[in-house]
Amino acid sequence: MTTRHEASDGSTIEPGDVVVLHVQGLEELIASLIDAGFDTRGPSVRNGAIVPGALHGVTDLPKGVHDVQAPGRYRLEHSDDGQLFGWAVGPGSWKAEFFPPSQELWRASPAGDSMVFTEPAPDQRRLAIIGARPCEVAALSVLDRVLANGEHRDPRYVERRDANFVVVVECGRPGATCFCSSMGTGPGIDAGFDVALTEVDDSDGHRFVARPGTQRGADFLSRVTHEESTDRDRGARVAVLERAGVQMGRRLDTEGLASLLARNVEHPHWDEVAERCLSCANCTLVCPTCFCSDVRDTTDLAGDFHRRRTWSSCFDLDHSYLHGGPVRASVSSRYRQWMTHKLSTWWDQFDTSGCVGCGRCVTWCPVGIDITEEVRAIATSDGASRRDVPSVKGAP
Ligand code: SF4
Ligand code: SF4
Repeated sequence: MTTRHEASDGSTIEPGDVVVLHVQGLEELIASLIDAGFDTRGPSVRNGAIVPGALHGVTDLPKGVHDVQAPGRYRLEHSDDGQLFGWAVGPGSWKAEFFPPSQELWRASPAGDSMVFTEPAPDQRRLAIIGARPCEVAALSVLDRVLANGEHRDPRYVERRDANFVVVVECGRPGATCFCSSMGTGPGIDAGFDVALTEVDDSDGHRFVARPGTQRGADFLSRVTHEESTDRDRGARVAVLERAGVQMGRRLDTEGLASLLARNVEHPHWDEVAERCLSCANCTLVCPTCFCSDVRDTTDLAGDFHRRRTWSSCFDLDHSYLHGGPVRASVSSRYRQWMTHKLSTWWDQFDTSGCVGCGRCVTWCPVGIDITEEVRAIATSDGASRRDVPSVKGAP
């Protein structure tokens, strides 16, 4: 027997409680975030993919939409099963909401004999992200170390993150390229959110097991129609996560991984990858933790001077341009830089992995280069050196 609480009937939920929402409760949660002034964003289907978009209510969610992912492949399929979160991450990550792909930093405009310098007005929107996955919340926390808690704090990023409300949805249907369980970032989550939901659809019906992670999350949950959870509800959540762990498409052995890569910088496999890699930078653009940027100046026809920051990539030749030429001129050196930074030197810099196992770089690589397979290839011939293979093509 469950006790049902209608919206605003005075029920109080505390962090650590577990309750159950039905679709109506989720609708009320979105509405109450909008009423509180949040700009609500969530998963939406656009151009054949699930990406972050405006979310005004449950009908905007990708109901019955599932994804099929493989190295270099992504397709959506439609079903009538009514699941709202039955998909794994798509090409767009939440990074873009806090660290936009292109952003004006300041501009200078001629005014008589002088110039007037202006900065864009601060972005006052309070963002509520609804439907972020555990690996994506982990990715935001990796970005926080770089852009909020590091030596070079980005005030625009900090502003957006501070005002941010997070509704995470635990993964019940990981993709074939996902490996978050190897990285300790999913499919479940214990911290870093205001509200965590797990979508359950079993003989007891379609519902969401909901856990507040903060007092503010608990306050919002208290205002929406909910039920107290039973052992069956909590057990159903555990079953969803266990099934997701088994279905996880990929694995990465992280034991000793940072030092494995550090001692294999001359491994011939970097050259083998370079023969396939197009140096297109897709992997860095879809990665939720890549944060490299470039600053460019332009002048428009009115004489205004603009300074913009745009995403950049270590696959770009200009990225390592130093005094007369790029330091990483070969594709093998650029791929090695990207992968060793993600999985090895990120630990030295930020005391964490730069990879959360979302699998995007595998799915969205046009030639299907798979970070988990490339690590495995190096691990199985640990210590091999391109110096032992003088005929390897493309060695820098
Ligand atoms: S390196 Fe690949 S799997 Fe890891 S976080 Fe980036 S896109 Fe995801
Ligand atoms: S690894 Fe794949 S996605 Fe990344 S630069 Fe090379 S071809 Fe492009």
